[in-house]
Amino acid sequence: MSGISLYVHIPFCASRCPYCDFATAPATSRLRSRYVDALVREIGEEGRALGRPRLRTVFVGGGTPSLLEPEEVGRISAAIEGAFDRRPREVTFEANPATLDRARLGAWLAFGATRISIGAQSFSERGLRALGRTHQPSDVAPAVEATRSYGLAVNLDLIFGWPGQTPADWLADLDRATALGPDHLSCYPLELSQEPEEAVANWPGAGWPALERWRRRTARRQADDRGLALLYALAHRRLARRGSRHYEISNWARPGKESLHNLTYWRNGQWLGVGAGSHSHLAGVRSRRPAALTAYVDQVERGLPREVDAHSDAAVDGAILGLRLDRGIDLARFSARFGHASRDRLVSGLAKLDGRALVRWTGDRVRLTPRGRILANEVFVHLV
Ligand code: SF4
Repeated sequence: MSGISLYVHIPFCASRCPYCDFATAPATSRLRSRYVDALVREIGEEGRALGRPRLRTVFVGGGTPSLLEPEEVGRISAAIEGAFDRRPREVTFEANPATLDRARLGAWLAFGATRISIGAQSFSERGLRALGRTHQPSDVAPAVEATRSYGLAVNLDLIFGWPGQTPADWLADLDRATALGPDHLSCYPLELSQEPEEAVANWPGAGWPALERWRRRTARRQADDRGLALLYALAHRRLARRGSRHYEISNWARPGKESLHNLTYWRNGQWLGVGAGSHSHLAGVRSRRPAALTAYVDQVERGLPREVDAHSDAAVDGAILGLRLDRGIDLARFSARFGHASRDRLVSGLAKLDGRALVRWTGDRVRLTPRGRILANEVFVHLV
């Protein structure tokens, strides 16, 4: 195995943001120390089973990794060191702006961090309230400044489409974010799933009915699809003027500052995910761990393997992920990787979109148009 990416999931959060679908759990969970033990065990066993491959990138995400104590970071780091050939080009930690401090940054530097992804979400008090976030707009600049002072690259996450957000609000958020000079920006629309996910079980007392009520109420007050498309188009134009490349549907980067780890996903490369709710893609097989903490810890303690996704189709995944990137798909390479039949299936699926200005062909390469990026799901549905 020539090299893989590693994703480490830290589910703990100070509170639960009501829109969030990630595998999260209270930071005070009585399962916390068993979880870190399980993570350390899983890292060791997976690394050895894979033959101690080289790690190209590491991403510690969540949840809120900035809630980990330096001692917990040290244990995870030692486990990785023992189980992998650790020479990554990029190591990212996700952080909540309110819980990022110098002690934690110091521990992350010792871990080899090169990049911090800060969940700013909005610079508007109204926006953060509408999203149910507990940090303040004023927390973001000091977090960016502290990160920079350690020589680390910065990503900021923003959310658009919260109830009551106007185009002027969104432009103000984009301007406040770019004024901080981030290397990378991720902008996601507020999407509210109405289906309970497994991680609900991790939050005793805060069950699904209350979340569902919040989501239904919030969804009714959100901008409609046209409104969201307008906000997305504003970001596309504004960030281009600020010198960022819109290299993936939801991601912008200064030249050379693209997320190498996330490029592994979008190029349908090889990665191992460890922790609750994590996904892996190794040797063409997709697999996952359960998002419920008890189920995850139990699975690892009993030495059980990840659950294999028997329904995934590598060529379909490769097409959908490849189209997310601004470079799109090169058909010759696609064909070499997935075969002529998959290539023909892709071409005939895209042919059904003729005349709708959603994709653009340049020789053997196909890309989403700006309109196609906004309506990407309408494109992807024709590839399945
Ligand atoms: S802090 Fe992040 S991961 Fe945790 S609940 Fe909020 S959005 Fe989800």
